[in-house]
Amino acid sequence: MYYEHILVAVDLTEECDPVVKRALALCEGRDGTKLSLVHIVEPMAMAFGGDVPMDLSQLQQQQFDQAKERLDRLITKYPALKKENSHLTYGQPRQEIHHLAKEQGCDMIVVGSHGRHGLALLLGSTANDVLHGAPCDVLAVHLVKRT
Ligand code: AMP
Repeated sequence: MYYEHILVAVDLTEECDPVVKRALALCEGRDGTKLSLVHIVEPMAMAFGGDVPMDLSQLQQQQFDQAKERLDRLITKYPALKKENSHLTYGQPRQEIHHLAKEQGCDMIVVGSHGRHGLALLLGSTANDVLHGAPCDVLAVHLVKRT
């Protein structure tokens, strides 16, 4: 069985390389497999946990512009990734990734996973989040722990 449309979720850190490479490996020798890319910019108010008594719109815009630049760089680095199949959006990663996967008819989502344990496990991970209630298969690419 081959996947028809793979959605690669990237956090735009240096750790997204192994995630992208694994997704590319899934497409190898398959002309028909479409590859889409997504990065979600989390609204700052959300990251701070709700109401923040200042205007974050300028900072938010900078954050979005920076993410766009990084996403463009990633697309340039891997010619198999196409700008027209890349998505940059505001929101909560799990929700937006699921929404996009459904909307685009993806049959596989690829994310990175740090294989957390101990205290870090309590904080949760995006891979875990994405897995729960996912509309399709999810591949969690094992990432070497950050030091
Ligand atoms: P984390 O659990 O936050 O360390 O992230 C693990 C993986 O989740 C990353 O390697 C990405 O595949 C995905 N991910 C994390 N944050 C985002 C984001 N903002 N947008 C898209 N994917 C993300």
